[in-house]
Amino acid sequence: MRVAVWYSNKDVRLEERPVPQIGPGELLVKVVASGICGSDVMEWYRRDRAPLVLGHEIAGEIVAAGEGVAKYQPGERITAAHHVPCQTCHYCRGGNPTVCETLRRTSFDPGGFAEYIRLPAINVDRGTFLLPDEISWEDATFAEPIACVLRGQRMASIRPGNSVLVIGSGIAGLLHVALAHALGAGRIVATDINQFRLEAAQRLGADSTFHAGEYVPDFLRQVNQGRLADRVIVCTGATSAITQALESVDRGGTILFFAPTDPGVTIPISINELFFREDRTLTTSYAGSPADYQTALDLIRAGTMPVHQMITHRLGLAETGIGFQLVASAQDSIKVIIEPQR
Ligand SMILES: [Zn+2]
Ligand SMILES: [Zn+2]
Repeated sequence: MRVAVWYSNKDVRLEERPVPQIGPGELLVKVVASGICGSDVMEWYRRDRAPLVLGHEIAGEIVAAGEGVAKYQPGERITAAHHVPCQTCHYCRGGNPTVCETLRRTSFDPGGFAEYIRLPAINVDRGTFLLPDEISWEDATFAEPIACVLRGQRMASIRPGNSVLVIGSGIAGLLHVALAHALGAGRIVATDINQFRLEAAQRLGADSTFHAGEYVPDFLRQVNQGRLADRVIVCTGATSAITQALESVDRGGTILFFAPTDPGVTIPISINELFFREDRTLTTSYAGSPADYQTALDLIRAGTMPVHQMITHRLGLAETGIGFQLVASAQDSIKVIIEPQR
């Protein structure tokens, strides 16, 4: 089969590999659509492990089921989670499956930018989801990013009527705008350095948008009845964005850090300011749980998350490298979908 192998964002090679062999409890899936994630182009995070077959936002058709697989059959349309929790450790039992060690270790074989993938038994057991007919292949690739966004907004306790500032309007930021809008947030404000993305944020539910290079918290006050934001969601690792977030969250509010920074970045925080005056909550969110995947699919099916309008490019497997360039350069692309069967 053909696979797209990542060496760097500028060096993605089409190579031949054998179709994976499946064992008991496993599934062989023909990948029909595979989304490029913002994290796929984060070179410092991937470089040490290259060459890699990336791709964790997939939709495909089951072509073979291993011995003992009772729930799924060849011909069925699915999406799947690459990271799945053990469900038995201290963290899983305590309701924190995304810090489970099993979750960090599990993955597809070899990765979603390939004609076929093998789903290990643990992924089949708790991370495989049948697609309703109404959800297209490409829309189904949004299950994973929306699952992550759902968990993030749960961690940030976004409530109806909250004002929400989203800093960084790439695909993650735009999904946050759309979900906050769908869940009944009050005023939604988005920033980015790219005008194309700010326009997309407006279409998806942002009431006001600002160029990140010009943004100051007073802009927020001007459109938010004199107040800072109840919730701030940081979807970029830029250090300037962290400063903006700290300056833009209202007293009693919450900042959700939804993207990593470059390695080694730290922020100075005054505990006394937080203690005596501000009572702000800082939190992070990484990945989503199996339950979040199911909710994500329900939202896609219901049309609550208008994912289709976020797809800007559809490319064949041999063009995966072009896709990585589009996502890494962050110009006029939002979601880039690879179609490994062409
Ligand atoms: Zn992703
Ligand atoms: Zn666990």
